[in-house]
Amino acid sequence: MKRLILFDVDGTLVWGGPAKDAFTHALVEVYGTTGPVNLVSFAGRTDPQIARELLRKAGLDDARIDEGLPRLWTLYPRELERRLPAKPVTVLAGVRDLLAALEDREDVAMGLVTGNIREGARLKLGSAGLAAAAFPAGGFGCDRESRNHLPAVAVGRAERVWGMRFPPESVVVVGDTPLDVECGRHFGARTFAVATGHFSAAELAAAGADHVATDLTCTRDVVDVLMA
Ligand SMILES: [Mg+2]
Repeated sequence: MKRLILFDVDGTLVWGGPAKDAFTHALVEVYGTTGPVNLVSFAGRTDPQIARELLRKAGLDDARIDEGLPRLWTLYPRELERRLPAKPVTVLAGVRDLLAALEDREDVAMGLVTGNIREGARLKLGSAGLAAAAFPAGGFGCDRESRNHLPAVAVGRAERVWGMRFPPESVVVVGDTPLDVECGRHFGARTFAVATGHFSAAELAAAGADHVATDLTCTRDVVDVLMA
């Protein structure tokens, strides 16, 4: 059975970078406020969800928030692109070897499930030398505000790209937060959680992940689990 492996971006493939600065800069440009950025968790959430929560806490209503979103999604990637050269994202340990091992396999299809808007994901991966083209199918924060709906979006695209069905049991969602685990379970996929973000292996196991690894450095072991 061909496997569709759907990777999260931040904390899973890469870390660091100027996204938070770019995001808050764009929020101020569009709405005149960032909202309480230190009181709202960004981990595992979609960009629209983060923006909405920040702005609601700043007292804006949903109509005003929705009105500004198209401009926010124009300005934010522009700011991100401008800031990335000075503060590039870093590829996490083991990721390049893992992707190289998977790319060679006929029985693997790869995609993304990330809360990033599509252009944000493309810019972050590109700055680290990971081509977005390596992940032909994706579910992004610009597709749905709730992450739980993103695996189905990615799988729908994958089915069009590869011209075949990917039933839930053929799909593995790889991510670094309990919300990654939740969205994978919501779709019925297997979940592989990696403790290279803000959550420990114990927290990810408690969230119900089918598999947990401290990082992605043991390429052969990780591939064996993904293909199990
Ligand atoms: Mg993440």
